[in-house]
Amino acid sequence: MNNKKNVFVFIGPPGSGKGSLAALCAEEFNWLQLSTGNLCRKHIFENSALGKEVSLAIKSGALVSDSLITAMVEQWLFDMKDDDRSVILDGYPRSVGQAKAFRDILNDKFKELRFHAILFLIPDEQLGIRLNSRLMCQNKECQAVYSSIEGSDLASKQLMICEKCGGSLGRRDDDQNDAIKVRLEMYHRHTQPLIDFYRSVHQPIIEIDANRQLDEVFSEFKRKLFVKMI
Ligand code: AMP
Repeated sequence: MNNKKNVFVFIGPPGSGKGSLAALCAEEFNWLQLSTGNLCRKHIFENSALGKEVSLAIKSGALVSDSLITAMVEQWLFDMKDDDRSVILDGYPRSVGQAKAFRDILNDKFKELRFHAILFLIPDEQLGIRLNSRLMCQNKECQAVYSSIEGSDLASKQLMICEKCGGSLGRRDDDQNDAIKVRLEMYHRHTQPLIDFYRSVHQPIIEIDANRQLDEVFSEFKRKLFVKMI
C-alpha cells in the first residue's frame, strides 16, 4: 500500500460490522478511526450540550442533522491534520447532503486526503440477529463491540467484561426492536441516493460481502484495496 494519507468511508447498515472492521484496521495498520455514532454517544455519556441535542434522535434511531454531524467530522479531521496516518470514517457520510458537504470540505481544506468508499453488503435478516446479540463496552472512551452469541469471533473471552479495557458490557439503547426498525428504514432511505450520487461523480465504490466472519471480511477488504491501490 502506498504512503499517501487515505480516508476510507464505511457505508453499511447497522450491525454490518463497519466498526469491527475499522477496529481491526486500526490495530493492524495503525489507522485512525472515527465512528460518528461513538462520538455522539460519548457526548451523551458526558451529558454535554451537544449530547443533549442528539440524544433523542439517537435513542429513536433517527439521524442527527447533516450540519451538526458534518461539523463534528470536520473538527475531528482538523484536530488530526498533523497526523499522517490514514483515516476510517465509520458511518459518515450517511446521506447525499453529508456526502456533498464532505466533498466540499475535502476539496477546500484537506486536499491531501485520498478518498475511498467501501460498501458493506448483508441481508437485513442477518442484521436483526446481530443487533439483538450485540454488546458494547460501556466505557465511553472504548465502546468496543462484542457478540453474546457463543462461538462468535466477536464473543468476549470474559463474561460481560471488555477484553480491551476491563469495562462492563451492555446493550446499546438503540439496539431495541423499535429503534432497529427505524435505523434500517433510515439506512435504506438514504443509502441508494448516496450510492447514486457517488456513481454520478464517478466515485468508485468497493463492495464487501459482510455476511461472514470478521477475518474473512478483513481478507476481502485487504485484497480489494490492494488491487485498487497498486
Ligand atoms: P451508529 O453507531 O453508527 O449505529 O450510529 C448511531 C446513531 O448515531 C445513528 O442512529 C444516528 O442517530 C447517529 N449518527 C451516527 N452517524 C450519523 C451520521 N453520519 N448522520 C446522522 N446521524 C448519525
